[in-house]
Amino acid sequence: MDNRTYELIDELSETRRLDADGFEYLVAHQDEDAASELARRAVAAREPYYGTKVFVRGLIEFSNICKNDCLYCGLRASNSSCERYRLSAEDVLSCTDAGYELGFRTFVLQSGEDGWYNDERLCALVAAIHERHPDCAITLSVGERSRESYARLREAGADRYLLRHETADPQHYARLHPQAMSFENRMRCLHDLRELGYAVGVGMMVGSPYQTPAHLAADLSFIASFRPEMCGLGPFIPHHATPFAHMAAGTLEQTCYLLSIVRLINPAILLPATTALGTIDPLGREKGMMAGANVVMPNLSPSGVRGKYLLYDGKICMGDEAAECRRCLDLRMERIGYQVVVDRGDPAV
Ligand code: SAM
Repeated sequence: MDNRTYELIDELSETRRLDADGFEYLVAHQDEDAASELARRAVAAREPYYGTKVFVRGLIEFSNICKNDCLYCGLRASNSSCERYRLSAEDVLSCTDAGYELGFRTFVLQSGEDGWYNDERLCALVAAIHERHPDCAITLSVGERSRESYARLREAGADRYLLRHETADPQHYARLHPQAMSFENRMRCLHDLRELGYAVGVGMMVGSPYQTPAHLAADLSFIASFRPEMCGLGPFIPHHATPFAHMAAGTLEQTCYLLSIVRLINPAILLPATTALGTIDPLGREKGMMAGANVVMPNLSPSGVRGKYLLYDGKICMGDEAAECRRCLDLRMERIGYQVVVDRGDPAV
């Protein structure tokens, strides 16, 4: 690590900010020493808020039908080899009931942009979960919708919303998405969600095609200014039936490096060690935790559909039952000195 990198790590730890040049320099000068210094400081910054507690979210992937055609994603509309499915509201309620028994107090409902789940149907589902489990938080991750739709879902009982910004650079955004999608609309959605009182999660893939240190610096500046309650950071992993099939995957090292930086930007942020991180390295989620993450999201989807929600190749935990996933993560976290807790896991600030 050179002097400038060390000074930037100091400045970030003290002020929680760097300018775009500072972030870019830090990203471009990643090495083992810088990574371990950042991780040490990230863990120390997390300590007063969460200690060694790990929050769990029960992830229910309720439809893989998607009208969008994101170039990186295995669920993209033009992937005709994707076997499509949609869970009914009753199926989802069975998952949340089972998840509740297993100690989950947050449910994350994620899907492709599936028009069948219009406002009426999705609001009814959210309201039903809210009624059965009033002590649980409901997080939605169902993509871009109108402000009115977000407002109705919030009224129905949704508390949090995950919508990764994917990249804070409009030109880079255009290289990852079809023309029908726009950076402006993504940002409009995030601002609407914030104004409507959701706890908002942004995020990006690490090592996505064409990504440069300057793009990552723009992402970090965006995270510092938007101040999301949550941030999803996982490596890009190619899917064989997409235009990016032959692109390189993101690395464990760079993802952990960025997790530490994001923790230092906001010590109270909710930061998952993602399934994608566990996919590129057998101990990826553990390493993510030690770099500053504090959330894990085991899968509660029925095992029969797990193998069909394939954003990328090689996804882990495809055959396990929900209970096995939960036990496995409890053990993995215990082994590194962390404890999964039964808690809604609200943002600390
Ligand atoms: N449709 C919703 C949306 O767009 O927010 C939620 C589902 S979408 C599949 C969830 C996230 O998966 C995306 O925000 C993206 O960052 C991530 N993802 C998609 N393809 C991926 C890939 N090949 N590697 C890693 N992550 C990927």
